[in-house]
Amino acid sequence: MPHPLEPIVALQKKDRKLLKIMRELRDIPQRKSDIEAQLGSARQKLATALDSRKHTEAQLKDIELEIESLKERIVKYKQQQMEAKTNDQYRAFVKEIGVVEGDIRKQEDRELLLMEELERGKGIVAECEERLDTEKAGIADELAELDARSTELEEQLERLKQDRMRAAELCDKPLLQKYTRIMNNKRDFGVVLVEAGGYCGGCHMKLPPQVIHDARNPTKIVGCNFCGRIVYNPEP
Ligand SMILES: [Zn+2]
Repeated sequence: MPHPLEPIVALQKKDRKLLKIMRELRDIPQRKSDIEAQLGSARQKLATALDSRKHTEAQLKDIELEIESLKERIVKYKQQQMEAKTNDQYRAFVKEIGVVEGDIRKQEDRELLLMEELERGKGIVAECEERLDTEKAGIADELAELDARSTELEEQLERLKQDRMRAAELCDKPLLQKYTRIMNNKRDFGVVLVEAGGYCGGCHMKLPPQVIHDARNPTKIVGCNFCGRIVYNPEP
């Protein structure tokens, strides 16, 4: 009579493949994010360059408003100047207008410097974008490979699950339950062979002679006294 553990051992082979595939699938998102993390420095540099450009643009906007309001003040002074009653009043406006014109020139000088700074800033942003694009292209292949691998594994997993279901139907039900319980707990083997010299194939402890003997007997199901895995000793 065939040993009732034979179909369980066959099932275990599929379970081990399943576990291996599931582990690899589980690790793929982390592997992808590790690869994407290589872009971190290039992304950071671009963000800094964009911030700096935005800051310069805001400063320029402020100066434009300031110049506008100074020019409006001159218009107002000139109107008041026309209505001056005395020469002293007239000269006072000439002086005021001169001061404001000086302020405008100062602001215009600053504006010019900031416009140059803005041009430089735009150049730096473009460089940073280019570098990021180059780095993205560099990792695109690696990421695509992992995506392809993931799809392949998902397909294998589906096939293997169907396969496993059929294999499970050939197993003795109480034995399958026992095996499943141990497998879920140990995550590697539920059934192990008795190794040469009488050692447990799971935990490698020396098994008692009675267990080694019973592990051959198709009518007896025995477990390792140390790790609890089912031990199987097929006829040579
Ligand atoms: Zn053991």
